[in-house]
Amino acid sequence: MAEIERPGAQQWVPAGAGIAELRVAASGCRGCELWEPATQVVFSAGTASARLVLVGEQPGDQEDRQGTPFVGPAGQLLARAVDAAGIARSEVYVTNAVKHFRFTERGKRRLHEKPGIAHIDACRPWLHAELDVVQPRVVVCLGATAGRSVLGREVKIGAERGRILGGEGAAVLITAHPSSLLRMQEPADRDAAFDALVADLRTAAAAAAQGAAE
Ligand code: SF4
Repeated sequence: MAEIERPGAQQWVPAGAGIAELRVAASGCRGCELWEPATQVVFSAGTASARLVLVGEQPGDQEDRQGTPFVGPAGQLLARAVDAAGIARSEVYVTNAVKHFRFTERGKRRLHEKPGIAHIDACRPWLHAELDVVQPRVVVCLGATAGRSVLGREVKIGAERGRILGGEGAAVLITAHPSSLLRMQEPADRDAAFDALVADLRTAAAAAAQGAAE
């Protein structure tokens, strides 16, 4: 089998660009193979001066069709959690670690496939460029893929979630991806997980308001 070429996104990232310019440039990215079967690149949404950046995994089926992140079921759940945390949606910038939808086809259905480490690494220059522009106070990693992209290492959600992690640049907070709640069978489990997500978002918002990490 021919080896897949993944040169990474860096050569497609225009230096010194704002978010609008980055979004346009990302549509031409060939940093990995995920662009080809996807409908379009899904870049980001929200305000470029936000103090809080939420990073997800990758676009899903509906995001891929609409070209906007977090418009599917997980995104709607996230929006409810943001509201419940008392955070104005207008004060948040949302994006994904990987900008093209990775999926496998089963008949007419397109099933989500988790991006590999190579895809996360290939796509990371876009996220770095976004964070350089937005300069948030806190970056919230929704799930392990976002955590790996932001921190550059493996992340254990259960062990690390909910704490403000200091470091160079923005503080980082790890929490669950909203899609993990959608997979829970028991309503009581979903409710508890939703409350935990809201609590984590509140912690991030408070840290962003203070501009201080622990
Ligand atoms: S997933 Fe990222 S690196 Fe791969 S082609 Fe899309 S934008 Fe480029």
